[in-house]
Amino acid sequence: MDSLPPPAAFLPTAPYDPHHDPLRDPHPGQGRAYAPSYWVATAGPPPADDGPLAGETDTDVAVIGSGFTGLACALFLARDHGITATVLEANTVAWGCSTRNGGQGQNASGRLSRAQWIARWGQETALALHAEILEGFELFTDLTRELDCEPQPGGHLYIAHRRRNLEKLRADSDLANRIFGYGTRILPREEVWRDFVHDAEAVGALHEPLGMGVQPAKLAFGYLRAARGAGARIHPGSPVLEIREEAECFLLRTPGGLLRARAVAIATGGYTGQKLHPRLRSRIMPILSNNMVTRPLTDSEIAATGFRTRQVITDTRTLRYYYRLLPDNRLQIGSRAAITGADAANPAHRAVLDDGLARKFPALAGIAADHSWWGWVDVSHDMMPRIVQPEAGRNLFYAMGYGGNGVSYSAQAGRRLAALAAGRPLPQRLPIFQGELPRHPFAPFRRLGQRALYRLYHRRDEAPDA
Ligand SMILES: Cc1cc2nc3c(=O)[nH]c(=O)nc-3n(C[C@H](O)[C@H](O)[C@H](O)COP(=O)(O)OP(=O)(O)OC[C@H]3O[C@@H](n4cnc5c(N)ncnc54)[C@H](O)[C@@H]3O)c2cc1C
Repeated sequence: MDSLPPPAAFLPTAPYDPHHDPLRDPHPGQGRAYAPSYWVATAGPPPADDGPLAGETDTDVAVIGSGFTGLACALFLARDHGITATVLEANTVAWGCSTRNGGQGQNASGRLSRAQWIARWGQETALALHAEILEGFELFTDLTRELDCEPQPGGHLYIAHRRRNLEKLRADSDLANRIFGYGTRILPREEVWRDFVHDAEAVGALHEPLGMGVQPAKLAFGYLRAARGAGARIHPGSPVLEIREEAECFLLRTPGGLLRARAVAIATGGYTGQKLHPRLRSRIMPILSNNMVTRPLTDSEIAATGFRTRQVITDTRTLRYYYRLLPDNRLQIGSRAAITGADAANPAHRAVLDDGLARKFPALAGIAADHSWWGWVDVSHDMMPRIVQPEAGRNLFYAMGYGGNGVSYSAQAGRRLAALAAGRPLPQRLPIFQGELPRHPFAPFRRLGQRALYRLYHRRDEAPDA
C-alpha cells in the first residue's frame, strides 16, 4: 500500500504586501507570504496545517483568524470543551500581529493604567480586572513552558525618559503596590544603569515583577501544533469573504470553500476588514508599529550599552519605544510608524527607530539592522479589549482590541472566547466581557485625528523637563 505523503505546511501563493491597509482593503489578501520579520526568519519551518478550505464542510465552531487569539481559542475549545474547531486564515498561519510583534509579554491588556481602571469603574472592578489579567499572565507563562518559544522571564522595566515621567511612575508604583499588592519597585537612574541597562535617556524606572519576552513566531507555531494536536483544523489561504446567517447556522464563504458552523468566533485583531461583519465596522483603530532587529552586538558593544538584563523594556513616551536584548545578542527595538499602509515603507518611519536607538545607546549609532518590518496593532476606541457575544441569542463572538498588549493576554482571551463559543458563561462580570467595542463617531476622519494626535504626542514626549 502507498503511504500518504507527510503533512506539510501551506506554501504561500502570493507575495507579501507591505502596503496592506485594513481600513482600505476588504480583507488581508489570500495566501500571502509572511512579513519579513526576524521571528519568521529564525523560527524554523512552519509546522503542518490543513491547507486551504476546499468544498463544503460542517464544523461546530468556526474561528476567523489564526493569530494567538484564534489559535488559543481553537486549542481551548478542544482541551476544555471537547469541541473540534475549524480555523480560517486568509494568509499563512499567524500572518498578522502574532508573527510581527515585539514579543513582550506583560501583565497587561489594553492601554489604560490601573489608576484609569479605578477612575472609570471603581476599585472593586479594578481589582477583579487585575485578577483576570494576572490569571491570563499565569496561563501565558504555563504555555511558554509547554510551547517552544525562547522565553526571557524576569519582569518588565518601564524606563522614565524624563523626570516628570518618573514622578508619574512613582504614583503608579505606589497605587499598584498599595491597592493591587503587586510588588513593583522604583529604581533610581544609578540602579537602572548598574543592574539593568545603560539607556542614556533613563532618569529612573519602574520595575514590575511580571514580564516575559518570547520568540513570537515560535510561540505561534507552538500554538498551531498544539491546536492541531488537540484536533482543530487550521486552513491558511482561506480569507473569509462573507459571513451569512441562516436560521440555525452561519455560512462562511472563502474563495475555495463554504464552511457551515453553529458558532463563529472572530479573532482578526488589527487586520479586521471593514466589510468582514457589520458589527465590527469602525470598532478597531488599526495603528502601524515598526520593528527592527540589529546584527548581533559585539562584546564591546554590550559593555558600552551596559546590558545586564534580557528582560523586556519600554519607555514612558506615549509613542513609546520598546526593546530588549535577544538570546543571540541582537537588539530588537520597535515604535510608532506610518499612518497609512501606502506610506508604510517610507524610510522616514524606520529612521524613528534608528534615532531612538542612537539616543538611548550612542555606541550603536548607525548600527546595521538585519531585519525590519511593521504590522497593524488593534487599538480600540476606549483603549480596552472586549471578549464578547455582542447580541444575546446569536452565536457570534469576538475577542480583540488589546492595543499593543496582547502577547500574553491573548492566551486568556482565546480561552474566554472558547468558553463563550461553547455556550458557557464567563465567570465574572467585567467591563471587557460586556457590551461591545465602541464605534468611532467620526470614522471617516479618524486618520486626520491620528495625524494631529501624533504631532501633539511627539511634541509632548520630546519636550525637555522644566
Ligand atoms: C509591530 C507590532 C508590535 C507589537 N508588539 C507587542 C508587544 O511587544 N507586546 C504585546 O503584548 N503586544 C504586541 N503587539 C500586539 C500583539 O502582537 C497582538 O495583540 C497579539 O499577537 C494577538 O493578536 P491576534 O491573534 O488577536 O491577531 P493577529 O495575530 O493579528 O491575527 C489576526 C489574523 O486574522 C487574519 N484575518 C483577518 N481578516 C481575515 C479574514 N477575512 N479571513 C481570514 N483571516 C483573516 C489575519 O490575516 C491575521 O493573521 C504588537 C503588534 C504589532 C503589529
